[in-house]
Amino acid sequence: MSMNNMGRPTNIDGVANDRTSASTVTGNKALMLKEALIFESGSPDRCGVDIAPAPETESRLGGLVRDADIGLPGLSEPETVRHYTRLSRQNYGIDLGFFPLGSCTMKHNPRLNEKMARLPGFADIHPMQPVHTVQGALGVINELAVWLIKLTGMHGVAMTPKAGAHGELCGILCIKAALEARGEDRKIILVPESAHGTNPASAAFAGFTVEDIPANADGRVDLAALKARLGPDVAGVMITNPNTCGLFERDMKAISDAVHEAGGYVYCDGANFNAIVGRVRPGDLGIDAMHINLHKTFSTPHGGGGPGSGPVVLSEALSPFGPLPFTERYEDGHITLVEEETCGERHPHSIGRMTAFHGQMGMFTRALTYMLSHGADGLRQVAEDAVLNANYVLRSMEDLLDAPFASAGPCMHEALFSDKDFAEGFSTLDLAKGLIDEGFHPMTVYFPLVVHGAMLVEPTETESKAAIDEFIMAFRSVVERAKAGDEALHGAPYHAPLRRLDETLAARKPVLAWSEPDVTAEAAE
Ligand SMILES: *Cc1c(COP(=O)(O)O)cnc(C)c1O
Repeated sequence: MSMNNMGRPTNIDGVANDRTSASTVTGNKALMLKEALIFESGSPDRCGVDIAPAPETESRLGGLVRDADIGLPGLSEPETVRHYTRLSRQNYGIDLGFFPLGSCTMKHNPRLNEKMARLPGFADIHPMQPVHTVQGALGVINELAVWLIKLTGMHGVAMTPKAGAHGELCGILCIKAALEARGEDRKIILVPESAHGTNPASAAFAGFTVEDIPANADGRVDLAALKARLGPDVAGVMITNPNTCGLFERDMKAISDAVHEAGGYVYCDGANFNAIVGRVRPGDLGIDAMHINLHKTFSTPHGGGGPGSGPVVLSEALSPFGPLPFTERYEDGHITLVEEETCGERHPHSIGRMTAFHGQMGMFTRALTYMLSHGADGLRQVAEDAVLNANYVLRSMEDLLDAPFASAGPCMHEALFSDKDFAEGFSTLDLAKGLIDEGFHPMTVYFPLVVHGAMLVEPTETESKAAIDEFIMAFRSVVERAKAGDEALHGAPYHAPLRRLDETLAARKPVLAWSEPDVTAEAAE
């Protein structure tokens, strides 16, 4: 086995019986270079720049002077550049290939967005600058707010929440504040079983008790069961529309009416707004609060943990409770920030702040750029093409792969499949790993929980027919192998830099700090 210069095996996945790739002495595969950790490849006595020795001065650190080496890896400039470039080649992103993650809306982020977001007037300002020096930036926030209100048919919008889940918390806190203002102590939030995990988490975090709403046979909320559960203890419902099975909740208006009649509020998870933007206004369906993931529907780069932005549109009933600060445009075009310190008495019922400042400026700029470059008609076409692409995937697979709700009609922007017909012992995980070998990032797997071995594919509107056709070819081929019981699939991926990892262990017990390996102990083994 080959070792790097710290005595670590370079073939760290250590999978025996590697049927397709001969191992190399370096660990490199063709021009894909194996990269050691930066601590392993650097040495403390090397440095990329010459720094003049610091003049002797009297320390003012008291007893806090460091007495050991700082321990940073020392590399020259070209070594540093190569290190990060090699790592970047092992990274998969939307600019590299198709990203069919259902519920994530991984669409192309136009370069124009980036150009606008980097303009110094947006990128180089500080949130504590006087308001009159940042009128342009506040103008972007205000204009985006106007677009979001128009597109959703709602009354107000809270721009500051920094992700979908954060928006959910904001909306639920507004519902809580509205109930408190009415002097009511309602404790229950109803959530369908198919909901994204963030929905029950947000409700519980805000102090509510979560109860499931059952689904009917065609994957939608069971209206009769919901109505039967409504009562004076129910604060509201959280419903995703289109839902996580990729279906439009046709009874949404009836659901809202019933919930309102029972004195509750309707939260809509708007993460799937991409499927209906420009075609449906949630305000017309009786929604009281809905977050919009700017980083999904309105492009802006996401993945790898951020950044996100989750503005929440609010009904007339909930708007008075929305968070501070928000922008307000005067007749003369001037924009101000409504904050506690300056205008608090005009907004006495606000739940307060969700963030320290005004939200994610870069995401706002990208999202507004996206809207203005598409125009209203273009945004409508976004939804139409996203739905068309998803149905193309659905209809191209359903003869081969179980699609639990396909008989109920077309899907929205994502297609849902199950592992029903896989051979004994073959799982959705095997299929996902097989797709990696074919050069595709896997789809969302095992979500929603209501479908066994779920595979949720969302192509988005920015994929060409050729790209989707290639994915379908690969998807069909791996499904055929899973159905035929091709043992080799259990070992996939064979061609990835790393093979099958223990993902549970990595998530539960991540090793985030490097420590020097004990070379003598390893050599003795
Ligand atoms: C993405 C998503 C969320 C959460 O949004 P974040 O921005 O990741 O916090 C909530 N619900 C659904 C249905 C989603 O797809």
